[in-house]
Amino acid sequence: MEQLTKAPNEFGYILDNIKEIRDRVGNAAAKYRKPGDRIDIMAVTKTVEPEKVNFAVSQGITLLGENRVQEYLSKKDSYDSSASVHIIGHLQTNKVKYIIDCVDMIQSVDSLKLANEIERLASARGKIMDILIEVNIGDEATKSGISSEELFELAKRVSELEHLRIRGLMAIPPIGCGGDVFAAIHELYLKLGELDPARIRPDTLSMGMSGDYELAIEHGSNLVRIGTKLFGARKYLEV
Ligand SMILES: *Cc1c(COP(=O)(O)O)cnc(C)c1O
Repeated sequence: MEQLTKAPNEFGYILDNIKEIRDRVGNAAAKYRKPGDRIDIMAVTKTVEPEKVNFAVSQGITLLGENRVQEYLSKKDSYDSSASVHIIGHLQTNKVKYIIDCVDMIQSVDSLKLANEIERLASARGKIMDILIEVNIGDEATKSGISSEELFELAKRVSELEHLRIRGLMAIPPIGCGGDVFAAIHELYLKLGELDPARIRPDTLSMGMSGDYELAIEHGSNLVRIGTKLFGARKYLEV
């Protein structure tokens, strides 16, 4: 990876943040993983200007996480084309058509209705869409994510759709939750791999954010989604 030798001053803090995150992820990987196992660092871009996002991309953080369809559509033409983009926010069925051609993965599949719409549009384009199933453990406050009881039934139904490929699970546990919640999600991920190995071969467990990514890695995450610790505090309140 080619590194800029000198960061523009205004983005110097992003460079410092990237170094710190890489160090911490590297240390956690050394402690909890076999040599060579990869852990991806995703830049979560909500409210962040494309110039800053592109700076992170130029430093090798080439995986971007998008929460809101509208915001992504307004920014995507400004993004460096070498970036991969995953949808990580709740996705309404009627919005799939806007993003189907311009994302590499949808991490927030949590209903058969949504999966069917992705199937319909991916099939029409002759493409396979990679997806994660979003599981909701320990967070009764949000409506997104499927319960652990319903997970395997949904996974079976989704695995029958020819233009979706289940790559694993995504979770947004409550901030400050203990390691036991991450461990429970990891258990579900391992069970998913045993459900129907001919059709479902999970390789991605997306969990861990700015405040808990090391804990998530300890419990099996291999894709951490970092916003605040990378770009600084967000400028406006989330809705
Ligand atoms: C905002 C967000 C993140 C990143 O949160 P930070 O605490 O700022 O790192 C990760 N995942 C999802 C789904 C998010 O909405």
